[in-house]
Amino acid sequence: MSTLSELCKQIVVCRKCETLARTRTQVVPGEGPDNAAIMFIGEAPGWNEDQQGRPFVGQAGLFLEQLMASINLKRTQVYITNVIKCRPPENRDPLPYEIQNCYPWLERQIEVIHPKMIVTLGRYSMGLFFPGKSVSKIHGTAQKKDNIIYYAMYHPAAALHQGSLRREIEEDMLKIPSILSHAETVAEAKQDVKQLNMFEV
Ligand code: URA
Repeated sequence: MSTLSELCKQIVVCRKCETLARTRTQVVPGEGPDNAAIMFIGEAPGWNEDQQGRPFVGQAGLFLEQLMASINLKRTQVYITNVIKCRPPENRDPLPYEIQNCYPWLERQIEVIHPKMIVTLGRYSMGLFFPGKSVSKIHGTAQKKDNIIYYAMYHPAAALHQGSLRREIEEDMLKIPSILSHAETVAEAKQDVKQLNMFEV
């Protein structure tokens, strides 16, 4: 069994957050190849994801797949996961201690996959890697740290029904191939992007 499969087996039995462990149907560890060049990190599973145990399988997921198709990418080619791996009750926002409890899983996934690029979807995901920044300011911009490019985008669920955000997320997705093929020109992060800022997201 691969290291990533082993890791997912550990994630699905996690009970660090009492409420989430009690209210979830399934844990949603993430999915994709263990050598994926791109990793998309959303916020948290919603109802559909909780039912199926797979990330981004509802409306937002369909939109994410369309966005990927615009750069000739299939979801089977990338790794898709979330900041927290269990659905918060009533789809409420993740709590700081839930983000903190779950962060070691995400960190391990990043270590194992070591993607060329991490795409953060929405403010919770962005908040982990771009401390103190606002998604409306930094979406569509990339920074490099430890040989990984971090790229911030709006959350597809937020962009889906808002005309202006939708155009922005579509445009941001279209920039990915060129950023990847000119990885050497991406600026190094001034601050440590792995310095966690979980209490301010
Ligand atoms: N929204 C997310 O952030 N993640 C999912 O998996 C689905 C919807």
